[in-house]
Amino acid sequence: VCLLWMSTFSSAEYLKYKDPRQPVNARVKDLLGRMTLEEKIGQMTQIDRSVASADIMNKYFIGSILSGGGSVPAKEASPETWINMVNGFQKGSLSTRLGIPLIYGIDAVHGHNNVYKATIFPHNVGLGATRDPDLVKRIGAATALEVRATGLQYVFAPCIAVCRDPRWGRCYESYSEDPKVVQAMTEVVSGLQGEIPEGHQKGVPFVAGRKNVAACAKHYVGDGGTTKGINENNTIIDWHGLLSIHMAGYYTSVIKGVSTVMISYSSWNGKKMHANHDLITGMLKNKLRFRGFVISDWQGIDRITTPPHANYSYSIHAGITAGIDMIMVPYNYTEFIDGLTYQVKNNMIPMSRIDDAVRRILRVKFTMGLFEYPMADTSFVDQLGSREHRELAREAVRKSLVLLKNGNSADKPVLPLPKRSRKILVAGAHADNLGYQCGGWTIEWQGLSGNNITSGTTILSAIKSTVDPMTKVVYREDPSSEEVKSGKYDYAIVVVGEHPYSETQGDNLNLTIPEPGPSTIYKVCGSVKCVVVIISGRPVVIQPFVDSMDAVVAAWLPGTEGQGVADVLFGDYGFTGKLSRTWFKTVDQLPMNVGDKHYDPLYPFGYGLTTLPTTKFT
Ligand code: BGC
Repeated sequence: VCLLWMSTFSSAEYLKYKDPRQPVNARVKDLLGRMTLEEKIGQMTQIDRSVASADIMNKYFIGSILSGGGSVPAKEASPETWINMVNGFQKGSLSTRLGIPLIYGIDAVHGHNNVYKATIFPHNVGLGATRDPDLVKRIGAATALEVRATGLQYVFAPCIAVCRDPRWGRCYESYSEDPKVVQAMTEVVSGLQGEIPEGHQKGVPFVAGRKNVAACAKHYVGDGGTTKGINENNTIIDWHGLLSIHMAGYYTSVIKGVSTVMISYSSWNGKKMHANHDLITGMLKNKLRFRGFVISDWQGIDRITTPPHANYSYSIHAGITAGIDMIMVPYNYTEFIDGLTYQVKNNMIPMSRIDDAVRRILRVKFTMGLFEYPMADTSFVDQLGSREHRELAREAVRKSLVLLKNGNSADKPVLPLPKRSRKILVAGAHADNLGYQCGGWTIEWQGLSGNNITSGTTILSAIKSTVDPMTKVVYREDPSSEEVKSGKYDYAIVVVGEHPYSETQGDNLNLTIPEPGPSTIYKVCGSVKCVVVIISGRPVVIQPFVDSMDAVVAAWLPGTEGQGVADVLFGDYGFTGKLSRTWFKTVDQLPMNVGDKHYDPLYPFGYGLTTLPTTKFT
C-alpha cells in the first residue's frame, strides 16, 4: 500500500537529482542517498545485449548493456532498428523506481565497426603513422556521430596500448610502440567526447553533448608489453618502465576528461591487473585523480582466478576491492549480483566501496545528459557512413601510407605512377577484398573476407577509377610468371598481406605474409616492374624479397576507403606517413623498439620516404 501511495504521488515531489539546474555532484549525492543496495549493485552490472531485455533491465536495475564481440542485431540492421532496440531496453531502465537511464557501450574501435554501412577508418597502427592528432580528433568526432546515429552512447575506445612486440594479435589497435606518439593520439578523446572547457577540473569526466559519446581508455595498464606479445599475458617491467612507457596515454586521457578506463586482462610482474589495488585505486584514482568509472574487461573479474583454482567469490572480492566500478559480466549476471550482495551484507566489502563505484557511474550518466535525454532519436541517422565521414576516412588512408622503398636508385623513383599507360596488372588477393582491407573488429569480432561485408571501395576498384580511361587494368589474383611476361604489362601493383584476426587469434610468432602472397610477389616482381602494397596490422617479414620489389608501400589496415590508396599511388597526393613502429628484419630480433641498445631494423621507427603530388596541367 505504501509503495502504491508513493508511486502515485511521487510525480509531484521535487527530486533534486532530476533537476538539471543542480550541479552534477549534488544530483549524484541526492540520487545515491535514495538507492537501495540492490539498485546500487545493478548500476555496477553490465550485461551483454544477447541476454538483455526491458524486463531484465527493470527487474535487476541493470546499469549498462554492451554489444560485445559482434553481439548486434541482424547484420544489415538499419540505424532505426538499432534505435528501436536501444530504446526498448531504455524503457525497462526508466520504469524502475528511480528511473536511472542505462548506458549502452560498443567496440567502435575504427569507426562504428560493428554496424553495416558505417564508415570504417584505418586501424590505429595506420593512424599512428599519420602523426596527425588533429586528424585523429576529427575521426573521433565522426565516430561519435555514427555511434549516436544508432542510439548508443558509449564506446570502448581508444585503445592506448603501447605495443612493444608486433607478435601481439592486438598490435594494430595500438597507435605506436612509442609512448609519445600514443600520448599525442589521445587527442581522439577530445573528438569522441568533445573538448573540455577551459578550467575543467582535472580527472573529472566530460562529454559535451548528444553528438558525443563517453570514451574508454583501454587496457589499463601494460597490455602492450607482454612477453613475446602473448595476449592477456604477463608484462615484466620495472616501475619506471611501466610509468614511462605504458602509462603514457593515461596521463593525457585523464586530463582530457576521459569518462571511463578499462582494465587489462594482462598481469604486471605476475599480478593480475584486475586485482591490482595499487594501480587502480592508488595510481589511477588517487594519484591521477581520475573521477570517471573503471570498467572490467569481458569476464575480466572471472579471470582473476583460473581453473583448476577458479574461485568466483574470491575473484569478485579481489576485483571490487581493487577499485573496479562497473563489471562487464556479461552473461551470468545473477551469479555476480548474488555474490556481490552477499559480500556487502556480510561486511566483506564495505558499503563505502560500493558507493564510490556508483557515484562514479552516476557522475558519467549525469554529465553526459542521459537523465535529460535518455531516449535515442533519429536526428543523427544520416551520419552513418555519410559522404563527409568517408572523405575523412579517405584522407586518413592517404596520410597513413608509409613508402618504404621507391625504386632501386634515388634518381629513378617508381612512384607516383603515371595515370596513363597502355596496360597494367593488379595482382594479389588483398587488391579486391574489402574484408581483408578492414581487418579484425569489422562487422564481426574476427573480421571477414569478401566484398559484400559492408559498403566501401576496394583498392582494385579505386585503381580502376583513378587511371586514365585509356589505361587497361587487368586483375589476376595469383598469376603465373608466364602470364605476367606474356601480358606485356607496363607495370604491376601487387597487393598482399595478412588475413583478418583479433585478440588472441592474431598472436603470431612468425609474422610471415601468408601464401600465396610471397609467391605472387616473386612471380610478378620477377617478370615486370612492380609496386607492392602490404595490407597488415603490423610489420611483417619482407627482408627476403625486398630486393625483388621495385617499390614497397605499407598500407596497414586502411578500412572501407580504398580510394585513399589510389590517390597517393597515382600522385594526386604525396606520401607523408612515417613508421609508427620499427620494421624488423627477422622475428628473432623481437622485441625491438626505438631507443633500444641493439637497434638494427630493416626500416627504423619514423622512416618513410616522401613523394610530391604530380602537378596537374589541366
Ligand atoms: C576486449 C575488449 C573489448 C571487450 C568487449 C574484450 O575481449 O579485450 O577490448 O572492449 O571484449 O567487447
